[in-house]
Amino acid sequence: MTSFLDPSLSRVKSLLRPLARRVGLAKGEPVWWDKQSKPQAGSLGLGDASCNVCGWSGAEFADPFHSEMATCLQCRSIARDRFLLRCFLLRNPEPWGLRVLETSPRMGRDYRRMMRRWFEYTASDFDESNHVADIKVDLMAIGLPDDSIDVLLTPHVLEHVPDTALALREIWRILTPGGRMYLQVPLLQGVTAPPIEPEFHGDDTPVFWRFGWDLTETLRAVGFETTVLVTDEWCDSLSGVSPRPAEIGDGFAINDICDHVVVDDLVAVSTPEITRRFGFLATYQFATWECIKR
Ligand SMILES: [Zn+2]
Repeated sequence: MTSFLDPSLSRVKSLLRPLARRVGLAKGEPVWWDKQSKPQAGSLGLGDASCNVCGWSGAEFADPFHSEMATCLQCRSIARDRFLLRCFLLRNPEPWGLRVLETSPRMGRDYRRMMRRWFEYTASDFDESNHVADIKVDLMAIGLPDDSIDVLLTPHVLEHVPDTALALREIWRILTPGGRMYLQVPLLQGVTAPPIEPEFHGDDTPVFWRFGWDLTETLRAVGFETTVLVTDEWCDSLSGVSPRPAEIGDGFAINDICDHVVVDDLVAVSTPEITRRFGFLATYQFATWECIKR
C-alpha cells in the first residue's frame, strides 16, 4: 500500500521518523547488508560510480582509480573486490544458495553477513593473523571433504602459497563436479617467476610467485577448464585491436604482459560503461581466472 501513499503524508512520516526512532517507536535505518537488494553482476545505480557489492551509487569513489583503490563509500569495497564479484555473478546467473568458500576475504563482517544472506558462505584464512575467518585453511592441505564446495573465491592468495600445483590439486578435490574457482592474483608480468627480491604484501605475508599468463596452463594441467576474464578494453589491447596502454611505472610490465598473452584464453566481461561505473580502471589491472571442474 505504501506506493499509494499521499506524497504529503509520506513527507510527514519521514519528518517524524527520527523522533519516533529516538523514543523507540520505529526501527532504525536498515544497514546495507540487511537490505533486500542482492549483490549483482550489473549496475542499476544512477551515479557515475556504482558498487555491485552493496548497491551504493554516487558521484565518485572515495579515492583514485586503481585495482586496490576506488573505494565504495558505503561498503568499502575496492575495485578488485567488485571485479571478482562481477565475474562470479555474471558467469553464474542463478548462484543463490550455492556453497561458497572465500579465502582471506579483504572485506569484513558486514560483507560476510551480506554474503551469508545469499549463499552458504564460509570465509577462511591461513593463520587468522590478518583476517578473521570462520575456518582456517591451508590451501596445500585443505581440511574440507571432497566435493564439498560449489564456488571458491580466492583473491590474491595463491601467490602466497609455496607449492602452486599442490594447492590446485587440493582445490580440485574440494570442488564439486561442475564447481568453479574465481581466482585473482596480481598479473604484473607475462611469465611466472619467483620474486627477484623478497616481496611482501600489505599484510606482511611473503610472496612466493609472481604469476604470468602461463598460470592458465598450470590450471589446465590439474584438469580445470580455464579462461581468463578481463575488461573489454584490455582484451582489445591484448588482441592488438587497439593500442597497448602506456607503461607508467605502476608495477605492471604492460609490454611483457602483452608479449606473452594467449588471446584465445581471454573472455571480455566488462563493457566500457560498466568498467567506468564500477571503477575497473586502469583496465589492465583486472583479470580473474575462471576454472571449472569438469
Ligand atoms: Zn559498496
